[in-house]
Amino acid sequence: MNQNQTVASESLKFIITSLEARKHGYLPKEPIPKPLKCQFCQKTLYHRGLINPKSRVVWKWLPPERCNCKKAQEYWKKYDEEQERLMLERAKEEERERFKRRIKKLLGESGIKKRFLNRTFDNFEVDDLNLEAYEIAKTYARDFENYKENGEGLYFVGSFGTGKTHLAVAIALYLINKGVPVICKTLIDLLTDIKKTFDSSQISEHEVLNIYKTVDLLVIDDLGKEPPTDWAMATFYSILNDRYENCLPTIITTNYNDKELIERLSRKSDTKTAGAIVDRLHGTCSLVEMNWKSWRTIY
Ligand SMILES: [Zn+2]
Repeated sequence: MNQNQTVASESLKFIITSLEARKHGYLPKEPIPKPLKCQFCQKTLYHRGLINPKSRVVWKWLPPERCNCKKAQEYWKKYDEEQERLMLERAKEEERERFKRRIKKLLGESGIKKRFLNRTFDNFEVDDLNLEAYEIAKTYARDFENYKENGEGLYFVGSFGTGKTHLAVAIALYLINKGVPVICKTLIDLLTDIKKTFDSSQISEHEVLNIYKTVDLLVIDDLGKEPPTDWAMATFYSILNDRYENCLPTIITTNYNDKELIERLSRKSDTKTAGAIVDRLHGTCSLVEMNWKSWRTIY
């Protein structure tokens, strides 16, 4: 190797060990740290230093080299995996916080009405009739990450006053307390938020729609109560469809069976969009029937 090559290869190398620094007379800005021993094979491990090749100065010391003995390799592999896991977790947490700030900025909180804010699992009155629905809801909240993985939601259907809303809100509150971004509202309120953006120069329709399409969990309470417009149904379908494609779960509560719901969501005789909405919901949500009151009145 001629001298030019030596200079070139040295100037490309910005990290050297403390041993090399000593050997080649580099000037350390901080005292040279004492080398460590590998905890497994006792090999001496020198600290690495960041250098300026021109001035031959070590301007910062880094942790020592990693030993390449088998046990050390295993140790570092585990260490790196754990670091990566923590980093991903932190990134996910930050992403959730960003999302919640966006919800707050654009919609103000989760949308749960004041009178519903006490509907938790703790104060749900469990009896023989609603026990199964209660268990399903509780399991869903507890194992939400698994359900979310598959984009699986819940579809509470049943007569008035059986506790559908209570259970849906209890899931939402449970997850909100865990830091999960959740929006929970009636379809009419959801659509009103979108309509408000039509007159706003601050917030765009796209931004609000995007929140509904990407929030970790969307809960629509009391579906079918609202008189639909073409715009309302098309908007709702596009939200559901995007959530479906992004594999994100939706929870529905409704007083109506499929036939009634399609009728109620249809404009005049056009049942196509309403039918597609109901199909989409059944394709992605597990059915939770809470129908006993009407059953009682029949018999
Ligand atoms: Zn070692």
